[in-house]
Amino acid sequence: MKTVAIIGSTGSIGTQALDVLSELRDEYEVVALAANTSVEKVLSQVEAFRPRCVTMQDRKAREKLSFSLENNSTKVIDTDSPLESLILEANADITLVSVVGAFGLLPALAGAKLGKRLALANKEALVLGGDLLINECKKFGTELIPVDSEHSAIFQCLLGQDIDEVRKIVLTASGGPFLNTSKAQMLNASVEDALKHPNWVMGGKITIDSATMMNKGLEVIEAHHLFGIDYSKIEVLVHPQSIIHSFVEYNDGAIISQLGLADMRVPIQFALTYPKRKFRKESLNLVGKNLEFSTPDLDKFGCLRLAYEAGIEGGDRPIVLNAANEVAVGQFLNQRISFGSIYEIVDETLKLFRKTEVCDLEELLEVDRRVREFVLGLIKTGGWRR
Ligand code: MG
Repeated sequence: MKTVAIIGSTGSIGTQALDVLSELRDEYEVVALAANTSVEKVLSQVEAFRPRCVTMQDRKAREKLSFSLENNSTKVIDTDSPLESLILEANADITLVSVVGAFGLLPALAGAKLGKRLALANKEALVLGGDLLINECKKFGTELIPVDSEHSAIFQCLLGQDIDEVRKIVLTASGGPFLNTSKAQMLNASVEDALKHPNWVMGGKITIDSATMMNKGLEVIEAHHLFGIDYSKIEVLVHPQSIIHSFVEYNDGAIISQLGLADMRVPIQFALTYPKRKFRKESLNLVGKNLEFSTPDLDKFGCLRLAYEAGIEGGDRPIVLNAANEVAVGQFLNQRISFGSIYEIVDETLKLFRKTEVCDLEELLEVDRRVREFVLGLIKTGGWRR
């Protein structure tokens, strides 16, 4: 039996992971669950999977959970950093980190310290602290397996190959809900329109990131760290059908790609069962399917350009990019700013926020915190409008 800890068990990836694991019960045991505030959902997951330990990030939610599980064999972890404590206590064979945003960095680092497998669905951890996380994985001998569908695809295309023989890796992008919308129309899109992703079912933050294509930009930085490959060898192609999940071109011009249904349960399962492939009944029928590709419009989708630039420049820039984007997306989802303002705010923050040297985790978290403060101030005063 392999043991699994799920950090972010009530989100989109977490619930799909449990869905996958409920089919693999004779080989995988869920031993730990953690979520933020959804106590009722966690309680029903505890009932279904009977983990050894469980926790909530939110203190009030944790108290409620403790009360509800008073006479239960599942232990509630109650410390100041509950997710990290739970990860260490569970010491699972596989730790799946599927929380959203920069917040995922600390649990990812805790998972990296176990020397086992870290299945990473949180791209921001790599955008923010890629060098740090990759070094920790190397230091402790932790196997880092990506869950993000494009990176899972690239990971699969690289199996048995030599990374030095790669000419380029190409991340495919659906183009999101505004691929065929004019730029002017897109800039004033409603929250409802931006949440209508054509192919993938995902959480709110990542769906908005897909609409601005910041998601693909974050994925470029994610790929750079995961595969240790230079930015000049990472390309993005718009592929509206989301059938080819990404591909690798080798020195001899040969392209190896991974295709499949747009179903996150496939990369989730692969990250859990790798190098084995377990049975799934769904299958993709390619008959009659068209595969189209085009280069992304970097004028319309400025966030993708900003992410490339921030990644290439390095230092604190990816942290600034990510924090500004997280705050701006949150404000857009709360209908406080327009869709077009997301790009403007990230762009302006990158211009105005003074470059800071970042040498360790503490400095990194401090920059992240200060950028968020800065962006909230910018939004309050309308100071990003030129
Ligand atoms: Mg992705």
